[in-house]
Amino acid sequence: MQLTFQTSIEYLKGVGPIKAALLQKELRIYTIADLIQYYPFRYEDRSQIQQIKDLQADLQQVQLRGTIQPPQVVGSKNKKRLEAIFQDETGTIRLVWFQKLSHMMKQLQPGIIYQVYGKLSVYNGSYTMIHPEMELYHPQKEQQETFIPVYHTTEKLKKGHLDSKLLRRIQQNLLGQLPTHVPEALPDYIRTRYQLLDKRAALTHIHFPQRAEMLQKARLSLKYEELFYIQLRLLQTRQLRMEKQAGKVYRDTQLLHQFYESSLPFPLTDAQKRVVKEIYTNLRSGNQMNRLLQGDVGSGKTMVAFLAMLLVVSSGSQATMMAPTEILAEQHYNKLVEFAANLPLRMGLLTGSTTGSERKRILIELAQGNIDILVGTHSLLNEEVLFKNLGLSIIDEQHRFGVMQRAKLWQRDAPSLPPHVLIMSATPIPRTLAMTLYGDLDVSTIDEMPAGRKPIKTAHYYDAQRLKVFGFIKKQIAQGGQVYVVYPLIEDSEKVDYKSLMDGYESISRAFPGTPISIVHGKMKAADKEYEMQRFAKGETKMMVATTVIEVGVNVPNARVMIIENADHFGLSQLHQLRGRVGRGQDQAYCILMTDYQISAKSRERIQALIATNDGFEIADMDLRLRGPGDLMGIQQSGALNLKIADLRQDNSILQMAREAAKQVIQADPLLEQPYHLVLKNQLASNTYANWGNIG
Ligand code: ADP
Ligand code: MG
Repeated sequence: MQLTFQTSIEYLKGVGPIKAALLQKELRIYTIADLIQYYPFRYEDRSQIQQIKDLQADLQQVQLRGTIQPPQVVGSKNKKRLEAIFQDETGTIRLVWFQKLSHMMKQLQPGIIYQVYGKLSVYNGSYTMIHPEMELYHPQKEQQETFIPVYHTTEKLKKGHLDSKLLRRIQQNLLGQLPTHVPEALPDYIRTRYQLLDKRAALTHIHFPQRAEMLQKARLSLKYEELFYIQLRLLQTRQLRMEKQAGKVYRDTQLLHQFYESSLPFPLTDAQKRVVKEIYTNLRSGNQMNRLLQGDVGSGKTMVAFLAMLLVVSSGSQATMMAPTEILAEQHYNKLVEFAANLPLRMGLLTGSTTGSERKRILIELAQGNIDILVGTHSLLNEEVLFKNLGLSIIDEQHRFGVMQRAKLWQRDAPSLPPHVLIMSATPIPRTLAMTLYGDLDVSTIDEMPAGRKPIKTAHYYDAQRLKVFGFIKKQIAQGGQVYVVYPLIEDSEKVDYKSLMDGYESISRAFPGTPISIVHGKMKAADKEYEMQRFAKGETKMMVATTVIEVGVNVPNARVMIIENADHFGLSQLHQLRGRVGRGQDQAYCILMTDYQISAKSRERIQALIATNDGFEIADMDLRLRGPGDLMGIQQSGALNLKIADLRQDNSILQMAREAAKQVIQADPLLEQPYHLVLKNQLASNTYANWGNIG
């Protein structure tokens, strides 16, 4: 039977319906294309044969060649094991099996030359290898399998005998059955330029490399292809959008002048000026804006958003700003009202708690165009919310919103021109990731903090040093400061969090008698949370004990100490976000990370990183390196990262090359109409056939 990439795996030799079902269920491998893209996660280097006299007991994987003496079953009833002495010309070690004793007993043949491979350990004073891989030694095979691919499997797969070894055999069968010529995924000229392998060779050598050099080439080729397609897709989307998607033109600066002259509360930073200019250029251009505005916590994104809205409202259009929580929406609203104090702006706030006649009034005014700026939560996405003339949608902390919602806001105004979109993120995204995730967006970056901010001092204390920390807090409060104490919110174990939060609250109340203390947690009603937040924001309470509900956006300039309990339970970016809640005023701010004595090496590394730098982009890069992109805040939901081989932590330079090439392709041939680009066009259009650059 002629295999194609769409052929179901059950028709492959060595698979069959039962194993196919398992592979589908466990690994989502349905077709030949899925299977062949199930790449090894590591390789065992079988190019070396060690001698027993050279062995060192360092838990290394070693490969030996020699013979065995007759195996023996030893040990008592339920601790039976099979042992055989293995020897080469230089010494002996012991091989041990705990499972399938009688089967192994039959299989093992004394006197025949085996090649054994496994992890070396020392047991009862002698070198031992438990459950070694045994292969009969074939002199003629010697040159072949020098790198043995190892595939991830699951417990269920192993139960169904689908272990790495069988997967290896299946891949071998598959490669044997593939036509000698598989369709190329990249045009020849690109492959030549970057010295990439042809598809057949790349697939062969990624599974069964014969030399390290070929493995490198196969990796480069496949990574390149994967990243190239992601970039190509994003750049093409962007190109088409820019060409086709006209946007409303906003050039009336009347309100801006009024604002600059009468009520600008502080001079803008150079970075703010620059991004405002980028946004204005975009809003004037006639093309729809789809822009990511990224800037560290406290870098002043709200002011930039306000200035963008002013331009749109000047021309009589409406603007909206969506925040992920009610508290944030209200804070934004209050801030914008404050900025607009001397301007003729009509503003509204719409959240889940806006009900009854107030809600009705807002909806009517909005539809009549009597509200210029509407701030809210995702209740803004409700179908009843109709704008008369929406010109700009701003989304704050976009990682909390799905891409779907992003699209929804775009299309709200379908018949006329779609609104411009500005997405604000305080999670600085490393460049590599921004390019991959948001390659279809333009990116503006605020990389400068308002003047006069002192860098936050960060320190690590152990729980046992709590009294010292309390003493420090007392001093700060006496000097007029306010303090956050934050507990981690561990999903799935809300009860535990609640308890540690409550215990913490009690001990703090005892330690600080007479000090007004607020508490906010997920079990409180929105209105109660709001009430407590307000008390803290107004300075009526001096301490805020909370779960991570305060994570984003909330602004209390007088708060200057952030205590993070169980700091090892937080991710790096999250810690940085929390830290950003303090240090917004003129006073020196502190962040104190509390942990037990015993924390993992990784947690320690995170804490060290946080102490070492205040720079959000550096932290984001580090987070990416420590955790991998899948775990980065909010990236999971985006669904845009389903990489089969490329690794954004390591493959920055390949990504750059791929992006550069994709850019040139799109510039030269935006619609991919050249015959030599047909392959690209087809791949982008197709969702099934060898959709190698799979970005969903
Ligand atoms: P974020 O980027 O985290 O949303 P905000 O917009 O909330 O930051 O700004 C943080 C604080 O800094 C606010 O109190 C804001 O008014 C203030 N701020 C913003 N820009 C400047 C500036 N150029 N100079 C001084 N203070 C500023
Ligand atoms: Mg903000």
